[in-house]
Amino acid sequence: MSAITGAAMVAGIIGRPVTHSLSPVLHNAWIEAAGLNAVYAPLAPTADGFRALVEGLRGGVIRGVNVTIPFKEAALAAADAASDRARLAGAANLLLFRGDGSIFADNTDGLGMLAALAVQASGFDPKFGPAVILGAGGAARGAAAALFLAGAPEIRIVNRTADRAEALARDIGRTVKAVAADGALADANLIVNATSLGLGGGPGPDIDLATAPTSAVVLDMVYKPLRTAFLGRAAALGLRTVDGLEMLIRQAVPSFEAFYGQPPPAGVDVRALALAAVGETA
Ligand code: NAP
Repeated sequence: MSAITGAAMVAGIIGRPVTHSLSPVLHNAWIEAAGLNAVYAPLAPTADGFRALVEGLRGGVIRGVNVTIPFKEAALAAADAASDRARLAGAANLLLFRGDGSIFADNTDGLGMLAALAVQASGFDPKFGPAVILGAGGAARGAAAALFLAGAPEIRIVNRTADRAEALARDIGRTVKAVAADGALADANLIVNATSLGLGGGPGPDIDLATAPTSAVVLDMVYKPLRTAFLGRAAALGLRTVDGLEMLIRQAVPSFEAFYGQPPPAGVDVRALALAAVGETA
């Protein structure tokens, strides 16, 4: 382990619960491999303690934090400035504490999704056709914002609670539409499970993947289990699949760069470390 001194660069993750977060596993493995004088720590404030914690970190007490459930909307609200993708998503998963006392918010979830698509579905281009997002929560918002900014010609939101899908569509832009599940997958270029269905096992979203073109790519944000039933059904139909763990790893990369001023070192098998942490094998 590299030495941690009083000059260490400090960052972390705020969530509640935060115990099962894989982010400390990823960031600390990269820190150690790069030999940095740095730490990445988990922080779990009470439900109403988030704002006070963040306010107390102003002025560069620490470099920044990732933010996870249930504080992503509160993170955006606490910031003085934000990236377009965080504003469009209405949520932030990254806060940076500037030396001048200001807080900058960003959202790297959508970036992670696009990077995972590039890695596991090479040649995929969001501009080639409609994207269908199942879900309308925070993760769906991040995905819709990223796909909108990346030039997807149409983004269809399918959600159990129609009002939430409609609000998401209104907030992001004209090419985003709330639609019913029936017929939603016709001519789809991308299908994303951004619901929590399938988490911990179970069949996942109830939508007939056979109605999608065989060229469609299917991404499941759920990564516990890694091989979800939803991805299994997609693969059985010959569709290309992208897993949620790749997305999780890729969303951590821009955060690491922002915290520690350099990209994560090459050659660290963080995927294997993350799988071991959730009790799975590659
Ligand atoms: P969230 O804000 O709580 O949203 C949950 C979504 O799932 C909502 O659209 C909800 O629909 C839907 N849902 C939940 N139970 C349902 C059910 N029984 N039937 C139909 N729909 C149901 O959560 P989130 O933050 O968006 O996260 C969603 C998932 O993405 C989680 O599994 C999370 O772990 C995962 N995620 C993964 C990554 C990654 O990097 N891989 C990043 C972010 C999130 P209603 O609106 O109708 O309630």
